[in-house]
Amino acid sequence: MSNNQSQNTVFLPEGSKRERGKDAQRMNIMVAKAVSNAVKSTLGPRGMDKMLVDEMGTVTISNDGATILKEMAIEHPIGKMLVELAKNQDDEVGDGTTSAVVIAGGLVSKAENLLDENIHPSIIIKGYKMASEKAVEYFNEISEKVTIEDKQLLLDIAKTSMTGKAAENSSILSGIVVDGILKISKSNKEIEREQIKIEQKIGGNLSETKLIDGIVLDKEIVHSEMPKNIKNAKILLVSSALEVKEPETEAKIQITSPDQLQAFIDQEEQTLKTMVDRIQATGATLVLCQKGIDDLAQHYLAKAGITAIRRVRQTDIERLAKATGAKIVNRLKNVTTKDLGTAELVYSKKIAGDDMLFIEGCPNPGYVTILLRGTSEQVLAETDRTLTDAIGAVISTIKSGKFVAAGGSSEIEVALRLKNFAKGVGGREQLAIEAFAEVLEIIPKTLAESAGLDAIDTIVSLRSKHQDPVNKGFGVDVVNGTIADMKKKKIIEPISVKTQAVTSSTEVAEMILRIDDIIAGQANKPKGMPMGMPGGMDMGDM
Ligand code: ADP
Ligand code: MG
Repeated sequence: MSNNQSQNTVFLPEGSKRERGKDAQRMNIMVAKAVSNAVKSTLGPRGMDKMLVDEMGTVTISNDGATILKEMAIEHPIGKMLVELAKNQDDEVGDGTTSAVVIAGGLVSKAENLLDENIHPSIIIKGYKMASEKAVEYFNEISEKVTIEDKQLLLDIAKTSMTGKAAENSSILSGIVVDGILKISKSNKEIEREQIKIEQKIGGNLSETKLIDGIVLDKEIVHSEMPKNIKNAKILLVSSALEVKEPETEAKIQITSPDQLQAFIDQEEQTLKTMVDRIQATGATLVLCQKGIDDLAQHYLAKAGITAIRRVRQTDIERLAKATGAKIVNRLKNVTTKDLGTAELVYSKKIAGDDMLFIEGCPNPGYVTILLRGTSEQVLAETDRTLTDAIGAVISTIKSGKFVAAGGSSEIEVALRLKNFAKGVGGREQLAIEAFAEVLEIIPKTLAESAGLDAIDTIVSLRSKHQDPVNKGFGVDVVNGTIADMKKKKIIEPISVKTQAVTSSTEVAEMILRIDDIIAGQANKPKGMPMGMPGGMDMGDM
């Protein structure tokens, strides 16, 4: 974003009132506060869950900021900006969504007080930006180094991200997350989130969750006579259906005699037979098809001793291509041996009564699957989100190579340093920087409240602890309901989760503060400019 000081405009649909100047600003601030308050109580291991029921009656129980906001179906453009913020935090660093939204809410709320004191939005924005840059610097100063060799630190980070969310299984699950990431890191320098697949399978319980060194598909082999165990599999990936296309309605064939019918059937059979012959000629022993497979094609494949799976998800097909080295084939006409991938072992195994396909020993070992077990859909879905956050946290840690202590300790320390910095800045910006520091303290305050502690007392004790540099790891130990040195307790988090939350929530707060006009929708709204973020915002030349 540039330093352009122009103000933004939000377009609302026809029939809405136009709000100007202060009214517009106040309304937007109110919405941002409301949305941020909605997720605030979920923060931390002692945070509460939210139960969300959609129009169809589907229930989601979640503690994850991004998920809650997504399910809340927020209509207001400002609310949508916060949903975007959470989503962005998730995409960039994989954890810290609630924190980001809480900080953004805090920033606009403090800005409201400053506006009351007649401080111009552009001064507030300037102060916030200075504070945000300094905060990133301070987080870096207080951070410590971590590398992929420090398995214990990575385990601590995974566990911190999961505390309070996976019940008594966080040790098992954090072990699985770190083992999975270490395994894929052996082959690729750049670890990508897609390299770890989470496959949910209802039944059993969380402690039965396993890490599989390869790719697992929740699919059964299409035909009972196909081999269920394949050593050194030669794998063909097909993105089109192994079927004869239905003739188009206009091109319906008129069949007038039994001979013609027989000829037609023969021709269909022949087409399918040719397909299978072509597959067989490549030497493939396993066919994974993204679409359907005709019964007759299944029969021919079984006769040829080729195992087949149908309706494999596109994301899995893509993953399999990378893992096995196979090309994704669309037309079988030109298929050759060169298109095939390989895996040392492929087998079908019953899990909770259903066949699942395991593809292990791929030439690219950078792909693993967490086979997640649990007693109900809700448990599986929420644990999936928790695992996803932990995976994000560990990957971010490896990428940034730095961590800080958790429990609001880094926020308290950075807030103290910011307040010192503000004194040197002076002027009205000083007030904005101080406000920014107080916003960071909302994190330890909220954690204290969630542990049943008095928020103000806790902040006061933490501030005094932090006067001495040896105590800079002190934060809220919510599990034991006290303040403690979180670094010593090995409750730690990646730095990028902190810096990303601070930077992007500052940007969102800035965008909200720049808006001084909400105008009812125009009749000829240009296409591709839907309501809400980011299309519906007049971004000016920001
Ligand atoms: P987010 O979506 O922001 O990641 P979480 O609900 O995961 O929200 O909570 C993260 C916050 O909880 C962080 O501020 C982190 O320091 C804190 N936290 C995690 N584990 C602990 C713990 N054992 N004690 C105190 N605070 C913790
Ligand atoms: Mg988290």
